[in-house]
Amino acid sequence: MATRRSNSIQAKLVLLGDMGTGKTSIVLRFVKGQYFDCQESTIGAAFFSQVLSLNEATVKFDIWDTAGQERYHSLAPMYYRGAAAAIVVYDISSTDSFIKAQRWVRELQRQGNPYLIMALVANKVDLESKRKIEHEEGLQYAQDHGLFFIETSAKTAENINELFYEIAKRLAKSQ
Ligand code: GDP
Ligand code: MG
Repeated sequence: MATRRSNSIQAKLVLLGDMGTGKTSIVLRFVKGQYFDCQESTIGAAFFSQVLSLNEATVKFDIWDTAGQERYHSLAPMYYRGAAAAIVVYDISSTDSFIKAQRWVRELQRQGNPYLIMALVANKVDLESKRKIEHEEGLQYAQDHGLFFIETSAKTAENINELFYEIAKRLAKSQ
């Protein structure tokens, strides 16, 4: 749900994707500017809050970082219900994580919120030598399904701020 007071927007944002793709690392990079090589697995979900100022508006993100394991799958709707934006993450070095990401996209599209802003994020681009999913493949899937696509690295911080700015801009525009 995105609610607006004057030019201030509050938006629920959810991160989905296979375990180990870097969801928590992306959020910590964005919220705290930090990165940890051995990030502990998330249990259930974790909540973060961060404000981004654009020229036209201030966006306050209420971020739900979900766990990704199958055994937590049934909890996911609690986190994406009422969300204004969703970030679906895969790891460019894992074909399986790309397949899982597509499942999440299908699930989100099935729940039928036409206003949901969805980003497909190909993380770990610093692992270029281990790449299994080409940029083109991710981009093509995203375009075919009406998603915004970006390649990131939580490790090097590449495109992390750009990801959240783009979502914030789309939220501001859709108000
Ligand atoms: P989550 O389960 O999706 O929340 O993934 P985590 O954020 O816990 O990350 C899983 C592992 O991948 C951790 O060891 C992270 O340090 C590592 N990781 C996360 N993002 C990146 C990245 O951009 N590049 C590399 N090389 N490793 C990453
Ligand atoms: Mg996590």
